[in-house]
Amino acid sequence: QHEMGHAQCETVLSVLQQQTIQAQALSPESLSDYLQRHGYSSWLSLKSAQVSPESAIELLEQSGLRGLGGAGFPAGRKWRIVRNQPGQHWLAVNIDEGEPGTFKDRTYLEQHPHQFLEGVLIAAEVVQAQQVILYLRDEYHALRHRLTQEIAALQHHWRGHSLPNIELRRGAGAYVCGEESAMLESIEGKRGVPRQRPPYVAQQGLFGHPTLVHNAETLYWVPKLLREGTDWFTRAGRHGRQGLRSFSVSGRVAKPGVALAPAGITLRELVDEYCGGMQTGHTLYGYLPGGASGGMLPAALADIPLDFDTLQEHGCFIGSAAVVVFSQMDSALDIARHLMNFFVHESCGQCTPCRSGTEKASQLMQQNHWNIPLLQDLSQVMRDASICGLGQAAPNPLDCLLRHFPHEVPKAGTGEVA
Ligand code: SF4
Repeated sequence: QHEMGHAQCETVLSVLQQQTIQAQALSPESLSDYLQRHGYSSWLSLKSAQVSPESAIELLEQSGLRGLGGAGFPAGRKWRIVRNQPGQHWLAVNIDEGEPGTFKDRTYLEQHPHQFLEGVLIAAEVVQAQQVILYLRDEYHALRHRLTQEIAALQHHWRGHSLPNIELRRGAGAYVCGEESAMLESIEGKRGVPRQRPPYVAQQGLFGHPTLVHNAETLYWVPKLLREGTDWFTRAGRHGRQGLRSFSVSGRVAKPGVALAPAGITLRELVDEYCGGMQTGHTLYGYLPGGASGGMLPAALADIPLDFDTLQEHGCFIGSAAVVVFSQMDSALDIARHLMNFFVHESCGQCTPCRSGTEKASQLMQQNHWNIPLLQDLSQVMRDASICGLGQAAPNPLDCLLRHFPHEVPKAGTGEVA
């Protein structure tokens, strides 16, 4: 190996790394492998009262772990709220992963299903939930098969340890069912439409019971935090932010995939350090920082920190950290039109601002001359009056196009659509 040049060495290392990643993906961690690396020890210390539920919640609060499905609500605070509710509690885990461009949950669960399942058991133990529903994206066939097997292995191995009842449910492909209350409606066997709040799902969730609703990745990190403390997590972070974020990166980058990177990393750093730069022949033109709903930013804003709460002033949010990178070969106008059509299709139709607003905006956006005041008015109504986040975020790509890519906006006109 010493005869190789540095560049050759680097190439060999990267090939090995790639092979390791592929091998991991092909042979996910089994229960016995996980037990060998002290798997389920965090849950057992809770069960044996070596660690109290209160200290587990305090540790989560110290870690700053937030809901990683998109909303970013502090995990510890959510656990405390549910735990303090009277009556029987439920746990519902969102593995629907419907935000376009997001694939981190699937990646983690396929590779380390038991780290996730231990997180599920810990959460159920802390909030005293006897019923657990895992709501899985139906397109994830391999993962369904894997989870079914591993849940059975878990139940067999820990029989006699009063496990909660864990049920795997298949989603039906509706984007809106990523919204927590719509997901609960779907689990209850009804049409998946968001509920009005209050009451919040932590107070009245599944079948009227207080329910802890979590994204899969949030629970995935819990056992490691309880076992190893919070330092490894809180020490990470860049540009004044703290923690780690799992970015699902796709689009015109050389190496798309899941990148576990410091919170607050910039898009430019993420692409250069984790994704092998841009694809040959492609120059960064813009990006979606948070899937379909998180808006759209130009290359000129590739040096701002990516994290919860850092993108609002630019009309965007990070959501589930689904970063889609586009280049000079792409058109921001096409992307905005495409995304508005997506929202038309996915609107559940329950409220008029979203149902009619997305449809009308989409029609107006197909025109060669845009009625910009009318589009802005529609956007404001959708933001202000839609019941749930889908309708409130639907105008983001449109507004970002007007704001950050004005050179692509069709000429102003009085284009009206009946
Ligand atoms: Fe349904 Fe859209 Fe209203 Fe949400 S905002 S409840 S998706 S119609």
